[in-house]
Amino acid sequence: MTPAELKRQIPSSPAFVLDEGQVLANLQPLIALRQATGCKILYSMKALPLAFLLELLSGGVDGISVSSLFEARLAKEVLGVNGRSIHLTTPGIRPDEFPELSKLCSHISFNSLSQYQRLHGLADGYSKGLRVNPKLSFANDQRYDPCRPHSKLGADIELLQTGLPAGIEGLHFHTVFACLDFAPLQQTLEKLLPILKRSQLKWLNLGGGYLYHDIANQAQIVELINRLKAEFGVDVYVEPGKGMVGNAGYLLTTVLDRFVSDGKEVLVLDTSVNHHPEVFEYQMKPRLREEDSAGEQSAILAGSTCLAGDVFGEYRFDRIPEVGERLVFADVGAYSLIKANRFNGYKLPDVYGVDPARWVLQKRDSYADYRRQWTNSED
Ligand SMILES: *Cc1c(COP(=O)(O)O)cnc(C)c1O
Repeated sequence: MTPAELKRQIPSSPAFVLDEGQVLANLQPLIALRQATGCKILYSMKALPLAFLLELLSGGVDGISVSSLFEARLAKEVLGVNGRSIHLTTPGIRPDEFPELSKLCSHISFNSLSQYQRLHGLADGYSKGLRVNPKLSFANDQRYDPCRPHSKLGADIELLQTGLPAGIEGLHFHTVFACLDFAPLQQTLEKLLPILKRSQLKWLNLGGGYLYHDIANQAQIVELINRLKAEFGVDVYVEPGKGMVGNAGYLLTTVLDRFVSDGKEVLVLDTSVNHHPEVFEYQMKPRLREEDSAGEQSAILAGSTCLAGDVFGEYRFDRIPEVGERLVFADVGAYSLIKANRFNGYKLPDVYGVDPARWVLQKRDSYADYRRQWTNSED
């Protein structure tokens, strides 16, 4: 989808636009992987839990990965009762929610040995697994590293060397983010081999974190999964989130004001970092489709809230956009809308689904939504 097409098709701003054709394209390498190995594909819905997206994906995936009761309920609603998988792992299982979770989820990977011991007996009917922390770091930013020192994510691999608790049928690990090669997977599996050899497991969940559509050579992962299946007879699951939707989301915005501040052009947009909070959390500069890195001029793109640091960054142009012009941020499909909020009382972006032939307004935030969030009355 080109920015020009997007701006021609989408009538309102700010808008979060999901390119459904791109989502289906992202699914293709995973379907090829399933054909080559018999592995199972889950979508990690926390990246973007829009129901119309879950429905779009539901024909292609084998299930959904969830982190909470609400995600599990929505996943179940979309998948129906046709026996497909819902996998849960989270440090935060609430004991009072466990009976319902165990009905909704086919597989639960406990996050620690103590979580397993405290909760697994409260209900039955699901397959019990354990999230392991393989203690192999691949992220250079600790905020993204599940294997950082004193990690809260997964049972320490050293604690499992003497065996797994009785009743554990599967292992889960998830240790990388936005990864563009499968070397971490290979190294992690090698480290897990002694445990795999000693246990009689039914399944292995390799987590998310790989951008399958951006990895040209899938031979390595095909070989790894085929070997796991041949040697250990396990079902193998992969559960990408960002890899399914990251490059399929756009944030369309309009320039509301333009002025010079201390010698630099500032463009105030009708969106803000509150519509893409990772810009502020991680001080990252999102990709702007209109940016021309060779451009002679530059402008600071700022959000419309009261926070001084509500700024997307400084971008280069060969001509600085005027008030009323529209701009498109790209690669915002994952972890943006789900973290968005109504700070300062600005509504969330309109949500559109587009494929080449049509666009559909899927959601529009209203004053009633704002009011429901901040008042105690239902009317
Ligand atoms: C977040 C998460 C995923 C998805 O990660 P992506 O980086 O979006 O692919 C998969 N599994 C677990 C356990 C997660 O926490």
